[in-house]
Amino acid sequence: MRERSAIDMTQVHLVTELAAAMPFAVIVIGRDERIIATNAQGQAMFGTGTTGRHYITVLRQPMVLDAVESVLRLSEPARAEYRVTEAGRDLHYTVHANPVVTDDFSCVTVAFEDRTEVDEAGLMRRDFVANVSHELRTPLTAVLGFIETLQGPAANDAGARVRFLEIMGNEARRMNRIVGDLLSLSRVEASRRVRPTEQIDIAATLRSVAQSLAPVARTQNVVLTTVGADSPTMIAGDRDQLIQVFTNLMENAIKYGGADHEVTVHLTAHTNEPTLRGPALRVDVTDQGDGIAPEHIPRLTERFYRIDSHRSREVGGTGLGLAIVKHILNRHRGRLKIESHVGRGTCFSVILPYE
Ligand code: ADP
Repeated sequence: MRERSAIDMTQVHLVTELAAAMPFAVIVIGRDERIIATNAQGQAMFGTGTTGRHYITVLRQPMVLDAVESVLRLSEPARAEYRVTEAGRDLHYTVHANPVVTDDFSCVTVAFEDRTEVDEAGLMRRDFVANVSHELRTPLTAVLGFIETLQGPAANDAGARVRFLEIMGNEARRMNRIVGDLLSLSRVEASRRVRPTEQIDIAATLRSVAQSLAPVARTQNVVLTTVGADSPTMIAGDRDQLIQVFTNLMENAIKYGGADHEVTVHLTAHTNEPTLRGPALRVDVTDQGDGIAPEHIPRLTERFYRIDSHRSREVGGTGLGLAIVKHILNRHRGRLKIESHVGRGTCFSVILPYE
């Protein structure tokens, strides 16, 4: 780096102000290899007492040190990757080290561009594709197996044909449900930034969902009751999406609540929800099933998360229902609360702001 006279206080002030205006962590190093300035994000990463220290004692990681050293030596920009683990989370930064040479002084700026969220989004996308492929491959493999059997060994077995076609039909319907749920999920995600403006009657919505699920409840000998949903209760919401929320929750309560039990849907017009600013309503969907152990509860809304995947498959589940519920409620600035007692049952509560 070209030699310039040492930086004076006015210049330090200017450099500090410029660093403060940057959107990510910045450290400025003088030609004497000591730190001149750090902005607030830089202090959050490296502590507050870094000014005046030699950069080697602060930056530490060899790749970053090499980059700074190369800028000091060659006066050309250099890049490095910086990785740390903080509170169990792996953080990743791309470090941009650049020479600054003016007529009066020279220094090196080291800026940390946070890549963590981009990395995490990429990882989630890859996980998701792997999960979807796995979920679809299982029924597809079964269908292909039965086709081969029907083309070969069981070609003339009329009994086997009927049985196998029924299984193949079930597996194909399952794939259809998964694809349908995936499409719902992507539609909800596409609309997530658009607040619903339509005024809908949530009481009528609950009654209509309960009515359409009555036949399913009857086959399980489950009594499905709505409470508090007699008079109109208007709310800003997307009708189709809220129908989906309550269909998924009531269907789950019927599926996992066990046969011969009761499922109650209780609408409370005014609830006190401290995390929401305005007035809100609450819908509790309560079943008397086996309940859910506490360690599963925070993960239930993850895509494809199931407590017992065998049971979920048996009852026609895709593992996407609660993920869809969560996304729809996010769009409505609502909340989902899950309270469960093992052996006694579960209550899924939907809290929705009026506007
Ligand atoms: P699925 O299609 O498997 O039902 P969901 O996303 O709707 O997927 O639910 C995820 C998992 O949460 C289910 O597989 C089940 O293990 C559990 N679950 C959901 N609702 C209930 C309930 N009412 N009681 C007990 N477990 C439930």
